[in-house]
Amino acid sequence: MSAGTPLAPGRSRPHSPPKVTVVGGGLAGITAAIALAESGADVTLLEARPRLGGATCSFNRDGLTVDTGQHVFLGCCSAYRGLLARLGMTEHAPLQRRFDVTVLAPGAGGQPRTARLRRTALPGPLHMLPALGRYPFLSRAERTRVARPALAMRRVDPADPATDTQRFGDWLAAHGQSEHARRALWDLFAVSALNIAGDDASLALAATVVKTGLLGKNNAADIGVAALPLGELHGDAAATLLAKLGAKVALGTKVAAIAAEDSEPAGGFRIHLAQAGEMSADAVVLAVPHEKAAPLIPPDTLPDGTAASWAGLGASPIVNVHVIYDRPVMDLPFAAAIDSPVQWVFDRTRISGLSTSNHGASNRGRPGQQYLAISLSAADEYADTPAARLREQFVPALAELFPAARDAQVTEFFVTRERRATFRQAPGSGGLRPKTATRRPGLVLAGAWTDTGWPDTMEGAVRSGLAAAIELKASLPTIGVPK
Ligand SMILES: Cc1cc2nc3c(=O)[nH]c(=O)nc-3n(C[C@H](O)[C@H](O)[C@H](O)COP(=O)(O)OP(=O)(O)OC[C@H]3O[C@@H](n4cnc5c(N)ncnc54)[C@H](O)[C@@H]3O)c2cc1C
Repeated sequence: MSAGTPLAPGRSRPHSPPKVTVVGGGLAGITAAIALAESGADVTLLEARPRLGGATCSFNRDGLTVDTGQHVFLGCCSAYRGLLARLGMTEHAPLQRRFDVTVLAPGAGGQPRTARLRRTALPGPLHMLPALGRYPFLSRAERTRVARPALAMRRVDPADPATDTQRFGDWLAAHGQSEHARRALWDLFAVSALNIAGDDASLALAATVVKTGLLGKNNAADIGVAALPLGELHGDAAATLLAKLGAKVALGTKVAAIAAEDSEPAGGFRIHLAQAGEMSADAVVLAVPHEKAAPLIPPDTLPDGTAASWAGLGASPIVNVHVIYDRPVMDLPFAAAIDSPVQWVFDRTRISGLSTSNHGASNRGRPGQQYLAISLSAADEYADTPAARLREQFVPALAELFPAARDAQVTEFFVTRERRATFRQAPGSGGLRPKTATRRPGLVLAGAWTDTGWPDTMEGAVRSGLAAAIELKASLPTIGVPK
């Protein structure tokens, strides 16, 4: 992250810095607020919830620290890693030394089958070929065909609107990938990266992921997993940094309306708060999800029908199934699964505080327990399923993958559901994502759902926040210089 050029002084106060209100304290809003405060703006960040971090948050459950959703990032997430560095959190979000994923599948006779997808030190895209060439969940014929789409993807332009009209599954099938290969290999990464059934994803977004992660530098797909709860990694760290930079943060402060102050395109804004009260700003970064942004946009800020069209972006759920065992059952930091309802499963024992917790009478106090979180993307079928039914399905599914779980007792089971985790990253979604700038130079949009070219991810959110800050810095001279 870079502070860039200083901002011009405030419109209404000749020698004071411009007042910028950032609405929404997710990663997009946090990033914009930091960049603008570093540039000398008088920043106020308004967040409806009682904490910063947005979709990346943690809560306490009877002494256990739980992330509402397991998050990972990749080596190629340069903007997000830049934010981590600015927050002083790099060491708490380590990357694998080399991309390394164990893939499990239920096996005959109760013995799970195992594969290891591990990159070599060869330059990309050669770095993955040895692992793919040995991947035992594909037939020999399927393995020989894997390179075809990888090579063809080089010619796919994610920015071409025609690419966004195509389904990833159709494109893979046209490049020799059988239904079985799509489920056993491509889904492993496409479903979790794009939060939509792999076949249904927009080819444009899938291409961004494949080209950057698979065809880029050999370390681009190395996986990063936070070693701290997300609330500490992002929200708490951002609150500390913003305070240091002199930015004001108002939590529990929901914005009810944004009004342009006069008919001048750069006339400033009045921000109406839901709990009564209002404030003025020279400029606004609107960094809330699309369904919240649409009603907040002042009239004539965008071409007719634009905000209404955002409803077409929809929403796709992510469900996390949390299972605590009385003993260790998985000896990996995380694993992926095929031929199983389990998609990805993570060991959260240490990060949740379970390994060090002392919960007295609660059975959590017993040493040696293990906390696993199953992350289920594109989880439409699970979003409203009662926890008891999920327990009937997922405890046996884990036992199929981890033999030690068959003798272990489940001491705790609970479910977290994020029904609007991301927008639905289907064909046609690209054309609905707005640019940062609006018709009003002082009002810019941010959020992982805006037109970043990236999927709805932490990287996309941070990129959007940086783009918002850059756009405002370009337009603020007209707002900030006194007339
Ligand atoms: C369960 C789950 C798992 C995920 N896994 C991954 C992953 O592994 N890797 C990855 O990169 N990404 C993942 N994502 C996606 C990633 O979390 C998001 O793309 C990113 O955090 C979005 O950030 P944002 O700032 O754009 O939006 P948000 O985080 O949604 O922030 C918007 C903020 O605006 C606030 N707000 C809304 N309305 C108002 C209002 N009127 N006034 C004031 N404030 C308001 C909200 O309270 C919220 O804090 C996951 C998401 C979920 C939910």
